[in-house]
Amino acid sequence: MRDPVLYPFYADIDSLPGVGPKVKPVLARLIGGETLFDLVFHLPVNWIDRRNRATFEDTVVGKVATVTGIVDSVEAARANRPTRVRLRDETGFLTLIYFHANPQWLQRTFPMGATIMASGLIDDYKGGRQMMHPDHIANPEKDEVPEVEPVYPMTANLTGKALRKFMAAALDKLPELGEWIDPHELKREQWPAFRAALETLHRPKEYDPEAFHRARERLAYDEAIAREIAVAQARRARDKRKSIAIPKAIGIERQIIEALPFKMTRAQAAAFQDVSSDMSRSVPMRRMIQGDVGSGKTLVAALAAAQAAASGKLTAIMSPTEVLARQQAEAFSRFLKPAGFRTEALTGRDRAATREAILDHVDAGAIHVLSGTQALYQSDVELTNLGLVIIDEQHRFGVADRLKLTAKGISPHMLVMSATPIPRTLALAINGDLDISIINEKPEGRQEVVTAALADNRADEVMEAVAKAVKRGERAFWICPTVDSEDAGDASAEARKALLAQVVRAPVEIVHGRMQAQDRDLALERFRSGESRVLVATTVIEVGVDVPEATIIVIERAEKFGLAQLHQLRGRVGRGDKPSSCVLLYHAPLTEQAKERIDTLRKTTDGFEIAEADYKLRGPGDMLGLRQSGAVDFHVFDLNEHGRLLEIARTDAKSIVAGDPGLNSNRGLAARHVRDLFAPRIASQVTEAD
Ligand code: ADP
Ligand code: MG
Repeated sequence: MRDPVLYPFYADIDSLPGVGPKVKPVLARLIGGETLFDLVFHLPVNWIDRRNRATFEDTVVGKVATVTGIVDSVEAARANRPTRVRLRDETGFLTLIYFHANPQWLQRTFPMGATIMASGLIDDYKGGRQMMHPDHIANPEKDEVPEVEPVYPMTANLTGKALRKFMAAALDKLPELGEWIDPHELKREQWPAFRAALETLHRPKEYDPEAFHRARERLAYDEAIAREIAVAQARRARDKRKSIAIPKAIGIERQIIEALPFKMTRAQAAAFQDVSSDMSRSVPMRRMIQGDVGSGKTLVAALAAAQAAASGKLTAIMSPTEVLARQQAEAFSRFLKPAGFRTEALTGRDRAATREAILDHVDAGAIHVLSGTQALYQSDVELTNLGLVIIDEQHRFGVADRLKLTAKGISPHMLVMSATPIPRTLALAINGDLDISIINEKPEGRQEVVTAALADNRADEVMEAVAKAVKRGERAFWICPTVDSEDAGDASAEARKALLAQVVRAPVEIVHGRMQAQDRDLALERFRSGESRVLVATTVIEVGVDVPEATIIVIERAEKFGLAQLHQLRGRVGRGDKPSSCVLLYHAPLTEQAKERIDTLRKTTDGFEIAEADYKLRGPGDMLGLRQSGAVDFHVFDLNEHGRLLEIARTDAKSIVAGDPGLNSNRGLAARHVRDLFAPRIASQVTEAD
């Protein structure tokens, strides 16, 4: 239950003067929500410093200045050339440059003869002074222009002035909250109070970059500690909860390992030892196995399932898609058969009768491992004998979803497998409630995948190469960005399939997201069994598909894919003992970022290195689609900038929760406020679980 003190944060933005039916959607889109909380956490990217007011002549190239001048001429944009607004003052001329500016806005803002105040970086162009997209412009005749003003990420149809007015009105409605940060720490860091931090950022009184920095840092810390409080509570609830101790089953473990057609890696064995001892305790396991694509996580999970089965306990596997759920069932079957254990897939597509039959067998203890999608666990299926839950491809779920499973009143052991190597620092932020084992070793005999980048006017050669590989008995993936879009031309899956069928002269399979799941499975199955040798696909195969005979993967329009995604895709080959290659077909010209992504992939196949590079290129928010998954929903917190705060927040949160588990003291109540403000999803799960 939310404390009523927090209600003003959740008030609708249309309760602010000036936010009517026309403005509301514009504002809501800009701030990504409809509450005052969303509004005040639309934070300024910086402040504009108007102290340095200069005549044109006095401006210094490379320095920020605020100048005032009169609109002298406007040269409208022409092909490839920006709009140029020429200002004059008593000392000469200065030009404002705008690329892709909205013409209406230009007309409205720069009528001939108007007085304009602009703040921004001074540039030199052929001896003249100019400002490229000044940070700020104002009409000083109408406004009293303050010396310092916040600058926001903006949108068309809304002026900075209007936004600042809304901010002020919102701030006036927000209550002061009790302090949740430890007083010593607050003093040491010289942080302002929570509301004061917002005030400082949105309504600065003087230009003081230090104050700007400290206010942001304080709010970043709030986000970190909110999460850590929720996680500390979850952990506490977990530790109080009993789970069934599932003892090691050395005999069965050996039976399975001896039946393997390969030698287990040392990293696999070590990861399984972690899992095995966790399971043998009566506290529920919460462990993540992190390993690059192809590192062999499935075997570790299968051994865990065997340990459960040996004690008569059911294992449930949760996968993001039905294709993967079925593939997991097959892989587990292969590993577990020698020990006499049975695995079945149960997905939304099964008929009622099949479903019932499977569940009957589960009840009777004749099925030991059940593999399904999320839907399986959200339905009313009761898995009374559940001992172990395995979650595949964790980054699709997020902390809150994991907790939900526990909240159903069951306390099985839980094992999460992540194919996405998350940098350690980030893993800490996302998976505060998980223990981590890392598989950092590839199985023996794996060939490095050779990666090449080619412009797409060489697609014909690449198709020839695929044809040759098929003749040698190998298989190939061909990944396309879209199914049949016109602008993609030959790069659409349908078009490419037709072309490949002519060149390869063997059956070519196609799978994409618009197909019925059943047809998709059949197509994948024909490819896996070798009935067809080439699989054209949109990214549905992104995660997890395992076809060791595949030796080539071609990724068309590679420049459109993210680094992590490209790495995942590349991981589909190089799984057998034949040399493999990955061809990145790109459409010129490449942006700098795309070039860098492609270079990174050519340089390394190490998933951790790639994750770090991805993180540097895109920042944590966008990485791996984490933001969509809800796993990372920070407003201010940024690992590069605030990483050091995480440890402090964790220690602080632990001590708050340990000293006051019900969060009833004054500080406890404050802690509850920050938790509910910044980590509502995790918090609601915690409350349910209690
Ligand atoms: P991932 O970690 O990406 O889930 P998988 O578990 O799917 O990887 O393993 C990839 C492939 O490697 C599978 O075909 C699997 O049977 C095989 N494999 C697993 N462990 C080993 C090993 N130690 N040696 C050789 N091959 C292995
Ligand atoms: Mg896997």
